[in-house]
Amino acid sequence: MQAKLQELQAGALAATAKIDNIKSLEDLRLKYLGKKGELTAILNGLGALSKEERPLIGKLSNEVKAAITAALDQRLTALENQEIQQKLASETIDITLPGRRIPAGRPHILTTTRAEIVEIFSELGYTVADGPELEDDFHNFEALNMPKDHPARDMHDTFYIDDGRVLRTHTSPVQIRLMEKGILPLKAIMPGRVYRCDADVTHSPVFHQVEGLVVGENITFGDLKGTLELFLKRMFGAQRKVRFRNSFFPFTEPSAEVDVECFVCGGKGCALCKNTGWIEILGSGSVDPNVFRAVNIDPEKYTGFAFGLGIERIAMLKYGIKDIRLFYASDLRFLKQF
Ligand SMILES: [Zn+2]
Repeated sequence: MQAKLQELQAGALAATAKIDNIKSLEDLRLKYLGKKGELTAILNGLGALSKEERPLIGKLSNEVKAAITAALDQRLTALENQEIQQKLASETIDITLPGRRIPAGRPHILTTTRAEIVEIFSELGYTVADGPELEDDFHNFEALNMPKDHPARDMHDTFYIDDGRVLRTHTSPVQIRLMEKGILPLKAIMPGRVYRCDADVTHSPVFHQVEGLVVGENITFGDLKGTLELFLKRMFGAQRKVRFRNSFFPFTEPSAEVDVECFVCGGKGCALCKNTGWIEILGSGSVDPNVFRAVNIDPEKYTGFAFGLGIERIAMLKYGIKDIRLFYASDLRFLKQF
């Protein structure tokens, strides 16, 4: 019996020394000291021994148990330490590294330009109106004094959809829809997406316009001039000169194109302004009586003016952007500059 116990102790200690992980160590503890363990079996069998043998073997058994327990505990501590060291080694944090910057979004330059335009007109008491991008022929052309055979239609490079519908070529149909409601006087701007079948460095099939419309009694061309001068000086600087040039649009009469002093040369003449010293910024005019008739407004009683400009064009001129496609390319190197 004595020899058996010593053998068991030697075996247990040797096995413990070889264990290299905590899970196996626990299995080993059960093998020897568990309820069904080898040493437990011997201790349970003490009752069968003779009176002389019992205290001797009992004492030895307890010594063996203590020795195995001590060896297991010691090994456990060693393995736990080893685990901590490994973790520390593998999870090193270099606190001298710079922190990761959280990328922050920002409004697109077209969004800020649009907001700037809307803000100026809002301060002048204009409301903001919206309309469908898929339009019918009447609202996009007919009501704007462009009957079916009108040559100005050709200039619009229209995307035709089925049923005679079109992707709106300008935000002017929103003006028609506003006037159809018949709530006068009215003073509104209409920012929005428009579509034309045209693409190069200064033209995009989808781009953005802002149009404005004022209708009421005694609205004059002088009101138009004062409003647009104020807007352009707010947008491009109070010192910048503005000029009105005679022009033609089907839906306004008389019509004027509005130029501002060149941003680059200040009027001396350069490549941007094609040596004229002026940059064309927007189109405008008094609402044509035919447009009023199309929406059942009495042109004898009411007058008004309208204007329109391209948001991309304004942003390109203001920030010196040469290629319109940069706005839509989602290139962060471009977008981050604003
Ligand atoms: Zn110039």
